[in-house]
Formats: sequence, C-alpha cells, structure tokens
Amino acid sequence: MGGVRRVILLLLILGSVAGAWLLPRLPEAWNPFAPIDLAGPTGPFTRHKLRGLAGDPAACFAALEAAGIAATPLPDASAGPDCPLRDTTRLPGPFDPARPLLTCPMAAAWSVYERQVLDPAAQAHFGTGIARVRHLGTLSCRNVRGGSRRSQHASANAIDLAGLRLDDGREVSVLRDWGRETAAGAFLRDARDGACRIFAAVLGPDRDAAHANHVHLDLGRWSACQ
Ligand SMILES: [Zn+2]
Repeated sequence: MGGVRRVILLLLILGSVAGAWLLPRLPEAWNPFAPIDLAGPTGPFTRHKLRGLAGDPAACFAALEAAGIAATPLPDASAGPDCPLRDTTRLPGPFDPARPLLTCPMAAAWSVYERQVLDPAAQAHFGTGIARVRHLGTLSCRNVRGGSRRSQHASANAIDLAGLRLDDGREVSVLRDWGRETAAGAFLRDARDGACRIFAAVLGPDRDAAHANHVHLDLGRWSACQ
C-alpha cells in the first residue's frame, strides 16, 4: 500500500471515529441525520431537511404536531390536470385569507420561517409582533409564468406573501415598502434574506414586475433568492 493511500485510509478512520462521537452530541440543527425540530433554531441543514419532508409525510405531520401546530392531513385530491394535491393541510395561524392550503413541507417551512425569521425581524425593526400575515394565495393550477412546467402553486407547494399587520396596527406592504430606506423596507429585506435560508425559491420585487406586490416562497426543486 502506498503512503498516500495509507494517509487517506487513516484520515477516513479518524473521520469516522470523530463523526460517530460528534454526531449524537450535536444540536438537531447541526446534525444532518436528526429529525427536524420545527420549534428549534435553524442551522445549515434546515433547508435540506424541510425539502426532505416531501418524501416522508408521516415524519412531516409528526414534526408539525411535535411543534404544537394543529394541522390535520387532508385526503389526496386534484386541483386540475397535472395539479395533484398530496399531503396537504390547512395551516392555522394569523393568515389573511385564513387557513391557507399548503403541502405539509411548506406548512413546516412556514412555521420555521415565522418563528425564526419573521417574528424576530418584526421585533428588531418595529419592537412589536405580527398580528396578521397577508398573502395572495397558495393554490393555482397553472404553469410558471412564460414557462412550460407547472408552478409550485399547482400543487399548493408555494405561498405569495403580500404584507403584514403588526400588533400595534401598523401595516407593512411589499408593494409599497419594498426597497425603501425605512423600517418597513429594512424589515422586508431581512424577511426576504431570511426566507432564502429556509425555502427553495424566493422571488420578490427584485425578480421582475410580476412580483412587485409579493414575495413568492416555495419548496420546489429549483432554488432562487431574488
Ligand atoms: Zn407565487
């Protein structure tokens, strides 16, 4: 056996031993093999784990329940041709319109987003919490704009965030406040940047005019942060 091979073998053995010792001691967010804790802090594997929930609805609904989110699985259905609704639920929370239909992984991702990004950003920029989340919908059986593949909205795997009402009554609007040098503008920038650590595709007004009044969030195969 050559010297280089020996060194590689030694490194592999050392790496395995260190990994076996280290992994069980890591917090969930830093352990790629631990089941996701939706109520815990985010880490380098959060986005990967959320996307992975798409293949494991039982684990997904269990994660929601463990985080205290009352989201009942709905029977599989169809929203039209090539628009399957699988592993969906109606997410409780202060939504306007209320109880949006979402896939379980999107419901899980939203819960993480609300706790780890939106609420802290509202506290940081306004010193208050969030009373209402305004959205433009989750389900729409259609293709992506100008494209031939189905939108993530076709299977309720996306939500369009339009704005928020704060606990003190103030309103934040993507259409009005995006890009401004105000507390609301800074809040929306943080909300977009934070979304990119959790969702797959994040498309706001920086993307194009079609997104002037909302930030699109989804958990599809394509990643974007705009
Ligand atoms: Zn959208």
